[in-house]
Amino acid sequence: MRKKLLSVVLLLSGVNTYAQQTDEGTIKSIFDQALSKGKSYEMLHDLCVNIGPRLSGSPGAAAAVEWSRHKMEDLGFDSVWLQPVMVPHWVRGEQEIGRILNSKKIGTKDMAITSLGGSIGTGAEGIAAGIVEVKSFDELKALGTKAIQGKIVFFNRPMDPAKINTFAAYSGAVEQRGNGAIEAAKLGAVAVIVRSMGSGLEEYPHTGGMRYATNIKLIPGVAISTQHAELLSKLLKEEKELQFYLETHCQILEDAPSFNVVGEIRGGEYKDEIIVVGGHLDSWDLAQGAHDDGAGCIQSIEVLRLFKSIGYKPKRTIRAVMFMNEENGLRGGTKYAELAKQNKEKHLAAIESDRGGFAPRGFTMSASDKIKSIIRSWKPLLEPYDLWDFNQEGGGADIGPLTTQGVALIGYLPDSQRYFSVHHTSEDTIDKVDKRELELGSASMAALVYLIDKYGFK
Ligand SMILES: [Zn+2]
Repeated sequence: MRKKLLSVVLLLSGVNTYAQQTDEGTIKSIFDQALSKGKSYEMLHDLCVNIGPRLSGSPGAAAAVEWSRHKMEDLGFDSVWLQPVMVPHWVRGEQEIGRILNSKKIGTKDMAITSLGGSIGTGAEGIAAGIVEVKSFDELKALGTKAIQGKIVFFNRPMDPAKINTFAAYSGAVEQRGNGAIEAAKLGAVAVIVRSMGSGLEEYPHTGGMRYATNIKLIPGVAISTQHAELLSKLLKEEKELQFYLETHCQILEDAPSFNVVGEIRGGEYKDEIIVVGGHLDSWDLAQGAHDDGAGCIQSIEVLRLFKSIGYKPKRTIRAVMFMNEENGLRGGTKYAELAKQNKEKHLAAIESDRGGFAPRGFTMSASDKIKSIIRSWKPLLEPYDLWDFNQEGGGADIGPLTTQGVALIGYLPDSQRYFSVHHTSEDTIDKVDKRELELGSASMAALVYLIDKYGFK
């Protein structure tokens, strides 16, 4: 009772009660607060349900900017502001049709497809053509123009299910989505269908960004569900003459104005040294962007809120950044780094959460050997909270542009097994997020920020 009274008095008098606390004690307070009085889930639920999809340039993205600004103002952070940035503006359009026209086995059948972000549309006339299936760019090139001219190329290399790290499996397949339309167009293809970047067999497709190259014809690109990719592949083995109809109405519009949203708590001792925690505010248009990356945004806000609620006053300035446009342009991350340089800001570290709101495993790092070993020396403090993997390289897409300014880049590393069943799909909704796992992620990030803030990298 007396102890409690004393800490209330100390809090009220503005004395940093954590100056004398052990690291174990402070980290325990962070986790206690996040798990018993946390706001992570409540905030994410609000963002998902009341704002919803927020692709760059959309009304949803604009609403999400205002939502996060107000949220951070209401939480009483020292400063909250917007960083203007122009973003690509792509719209899907209403109707998307992918149809097998003439199968001897199954006749006419609609397939689960969705346009890839950044694709041109086919227009109302659609495209009807034969299909050539390939598993790699090498296979495509070996077939050559003669086989590809006038055809739809079907890229069907799955994410390798034998890889334990699903992000590695994703990396091994995603070039088909990113560059498939360029490689196929070089050989005269009229469109591409890409097997969804999903780790299982699902009935819904996964969208995601695709690119075009200058001087190479723009052809439409769609993703097909993994289930229908299997079906199509099976049919093609016996029915080489299969015809496919594609109709999409997506459009690439003029770049649109948007914002990164930044909130900070200023440091006491070294206020000019900044530690960033962030996620990306934009999401694909097919769902609520709960895991990708509403979770990361909310966890970043929660880090600052946790510090305030346990009365921890940081030595350094802690910033929560909601980056805009990670999914189809990375303009927000690029702008943030540009402004940091222009304003001669000193960033000590940037931590991004963009691998879903799943249970903690550790942190990835892209930093000097010295900094890596300092962070690894904190492992005994973090291991009790299931944070044990500090061995993987990497930071995060949005913080990546800070690398040229010598900033230590860190990625929150949660369990990866379920991420690629919802990533970029209609299924990335709040009901797929576990409240406790999300909260553990917020606390994990706060614990690491606390240690970096307290000890620096000296
Ligand atoms: Zn993401």
